Amino acid sequence: MAPSAGPQSSPRFRSWLRSRRRPLAVLLVGCLGGALAAARAAADARGLDESIDSTQVSATSRWFKGNLHTHTLNSDGDSTPDEVVRWYREHGYDFLVLTDHNFLTGVDGLNAVQGAPGKFLVVKGEEVTSAVGRKPIHVNGFGVDRLVDPPQAGTVVEMLQGMVDAIRGARGVPSINHPNFGWAISAEELAAVQRTKLFEVYNGHPLVNNLGGGGVPGLEEVWDRILSGGRMLYGVAVDDAHHFKRPWDRTASTPGHGWVFVQAPALEPRALVEALERGAFYSSTGVELAVVEATSVAVRVEVTPATASKYRIQFIGRGGRVLREVAGSSASYEFAGDEGYVRAKVLESNGAVAWTQPVPVGPGAPR
Ligand SMILES: [Zn+2]
Ligand SMILES: [Zn+2]
Repeated sequence: MAPSAGPQSSPRFRSWLRSRRRPLAVLLVGCLGGALAAARAAADARGLDESIDSTQVSATSRWFKGNLHTHTLNSDGDSTPDEVVRWYREHGYDFLVLTDHNFLTGVDGLNAVQGAPGKFLVVKGEEVTSAVGRKPIHVNGFGVDRLVDPPQAGTVVEMLQGMVDAIRGARGVPSINHPNFGWAISAEELAAVQRTKLFEVYNGHPLVNNLGGGGVPGLEEVWDRILSGGRMLYGVAVDDAHHFKRPWDRTASTPGHGWVFVQAPALEPRALVEALERGAFYSSTGVELAVVEATSVAVRVEVTPATASKYRIQFIGRGGRVLREVAGSSASYEFAGDEGYVRAKVLESNGAVAWTQPVPVGPGAPR
């Protein structure tokens, strides 16, 4: 938010069984081989590409909860890096990316004091921040190894591309932020940016217009338009937290609104950002998933139900069409083969949402 989202394989097979606190091997033993064999057999039967990318499945992978977008006193946040990190560590997160505006907040001292191997990690990041005319253009760089200066550019697309490329040049993973903040980035402009896979489908700041309005599409519609046009994008949910001292203030950008669960082999910066670029994560504003599974034939999700909540699960394909909706806390969708892509959305009865990442299906699938 103002001073107030690489190269990607499209795995045919991904099995994401969530298990944060125990080894995934426990859940996968006995079922992984069977699932692979079944997926192969089904793929054969359908004449689909039978290649199974089993590198996506690791017996040692775990799910890690993290916030990807956070400010401190090093830009326009109201708290020290130490206070900010403490908030996330004490509220059940496994990792946190610090993304001050045009400032690379150091993380070594924070990790020395608050980090714990396999339990909590602070990842270096920067919100590369500029504007084109009155339009704010902000791109996060996760895991950058040095400060990235915003480029000079005359158009929104040139600015976004310049930021993405500069972040890549610093070995970071780019993520395009809050496209509807200041109504800055259209769906067409977002679709035109190359060499990036991540964008914010949800940002917790109160002024970012996630849902669109006045004729401008909301970010889920933007996402579906771009996917339907053949371009793969993964949607992250983030806090964009600035304010930790006035949790009662609804005009403040407070923490705890949007996060990701990433499946990675280790709680290490490179493992986390590479998993994000593979789409090995889901995004949430309060729904927790027990199972997220995608094979070459189907997608399946299972919610970890919260007491007294009820759920709807939608499977969404080309054009944003709801292919199937299920009332309940678990559901699966078997591909017909011409959907283009399939992504799942879980809607909780108090407004919380989880979004899984799109799986490419059939001709014209996003790449
Ligand atoms: Zn921003
Ligand atoms: Zn921000």
